Amino acid sequence: VRVKSAEFIKSSVNVAQCPPPRFPEFAVIGRSNVGKSSLINMLTGRSSLAMVSKTPGKTRCINHFLINGAWYLVDLPGYGYARTSKGNVVEWNRFTREYFTERETLVTVLLLVDASIPPMALDISCAAWFAEAEVPFTVVFTKLDKRKKGGPPAEENIAAFEAQVEEACGYAPPTILTSSKSGKGRNELLAHVAQLREF
Ligand code: GDP
Repeated sequence: VRVKSAEFIKSSVNVAQCPPPRFPEFAVIGRSNVGKSSLINMLTGRSSLAMVSKTPGKTRCINHFLINGAWYLVDLPGYGYARTSKGNVVEWNRFTREYFTERETLVTVLLLVDASIPPMALDISCAAWFAEAEVPFTVVFTKLDKRKKGGPPAEENIAAFEAQVEEACGYAPPTILTSSKSGKGRNELLAHVAQLREF
């Protein structure tokens, strides 16, 4: 799968500001340090794109990138906790939540999860939120090449995450395994996007 062109279009702070909904879009989200910038670089082959998202002021924006003149890759701010009586639950800023529920051309959210660490409750609660809100999402595991000293292998973390996510959501979302270091999963992820765009 080739990425012939990738260009930064716009940073927006609400859905009304987003580019006209002319193309199908795929939103990338994850905790900070999950490997989001590295994955965007790996997918598009352009380090300049993720740098755009990391510039001060843009990290908290909805950033649209047009790929091959045909679909949007959308970089969203990370998410945080809200402490409630039910424990920690995912907390979006208002426009991110609005983006998920109101952006009519959003096809699927790519939820990035670090495969080098055991499942984090916050990531599970994020997945559960998508299931509850009926927002389609795919779990994209990152850092498949990495094993923390003394930690479990990636395969074990992935199996544990998949079990917990199915329990929390009531179904098993699609999953893709990637490493930005080795390029693993690049073609699979681009093929996944191409397939979902058909519908
Ligand atoms: P972001 O904050 O989510 O944008 O994460 P970055 O892309 O900046 O990556 C955070 C850290 O994880 C950096 O030190 C990267 O070098 C490292 N990292 C990202 N992807 C991979 C990967 O596939 N394998 C390994 N081993 N490290 C990675």
